[in-house]
Amino acid sequence: MNCWKDNVKKVVPYTPGEQPQIKNVVKINTNENPYPPSPKVYEAMKNFDADNLKKYPDPLIGKLIEAIAEYHNIDKDMVFAGVGSDDVIGMAFLTFFNGDKPILFPDITYSFYDVWADLFGIKYEQIPLLEDFTIRKEDYIRENGGIIIANPNAPTSIALDIDDIEYIIKNNPSSVVIIDEAYIDFGGVSALGLVNKYDNLLVVRTFSKSRSMAGARIGYAVGCKDIIKYLNDVKYSYNSYTLSNLTIDLGVASIKDDEYFRNIVNKIIETREKYSAELKKLGFTVLDSSSNFLFAKPSGINAYDLFEELKRRNIFVRYFNKQRINEYLRISVGTDKEMQILIDNIKDIIG
Ligand code: PMP
Repeated sequence: MNCWKDNVKKVVPYTPGEQPQIKNVVKINTNENPYPPSPKVYEAMKNFDADNLKKYPDPLIGKLIEAIAEYHNIDKDMVFAGVGSDDVIGMAFLTFFNGDKPILFPDITYSFYDVWADLFGIKYEQIPLLEDFTIRKEDYIRENGGIIIANPNAPTSIALDIDDIEYIIKNNPSSVVIIDEAYIDFGGVSALGLVNKYDNLLVVRTFSKSRSMAGARIGYAVGCKDIIKYLNDVKYSYNSYTLSNLTIDLGVASIKDDEYFRNIVNKIIETREKYSAELKKLGFTVLDSSSNFLFAKPSGINAYDLFEELKRRNIFVRYFNKQRINEYLRISVGTDKEMQILIDNIKDIIG
């Protein structure tokens, strides 16, 4: 007997970080920003007329796309927006990765890439990072149906040199190369400067980290006009109304407040450097971070045991039970106060 379950697409889903529903926790496990969004976002929220909700939002996401284009000083036809960068990247996989050859990405990287590839039936090859978790650019010069690289990479926190990125884009003219810049505002050099030079480049950004708006779900991509047109064709074949009226207004308000944005990004970088040094003093190996998180290997205690003990104390960090990185913890940079609580507790635990 046939069963409807025979026709189900069976996939192993992505596992997001835990969102504890209790108060008074130190939550440094999902690379959220510890600071609130810009005061201009609060203002836009207050000024939003709920009456607008009766109408569909602008399918072109015009106001936000124009604000992003103006911010980066590019043409609005070079910008695509979606429901967080997850939506943008998923859409890009669907649009550009349709060849017979496998797409390439590192073995240690954002763990959604292989999930999308499996969901969409895209072949992929995971290229091992070097022993020190860096990318060897020459490894990406081989037959492929596309490339995606997170820069800075996650969960390693390490940025790839812009010359190496350009080398990969330049030597793969027949593939779309996606550079996922979720963390670029915290370090590293953006590939945005290359979009006018290479028609096979798509740079993806998010409001979730540096703009403190993970809950609003805004992501965008920048590329040549052709690449953006193809992305929009797929978007309009799937869901034309991605961002809500409200979200569009909030996004515009955020991008117009550059001073606030720079201020909180700088604060996070300062805290990152301070607490990276503190962890090193406790004997941790801490990778050189260009992001809003630290990737650190404890000493004197196993990473999993430390993760569990911190959790018991209501301090949430991220542990990946995955070969090569199962001795590390990924610690998002919180406020100085939160980071100090973390350090004090680690000291208490390791004695
Ligand atoms: N890319 C990377 C490398 C990430 O770590 C994340 C956050 N989980 C995302 C993309 C997606 O972020 P968002 O959908 O919130 O924009």
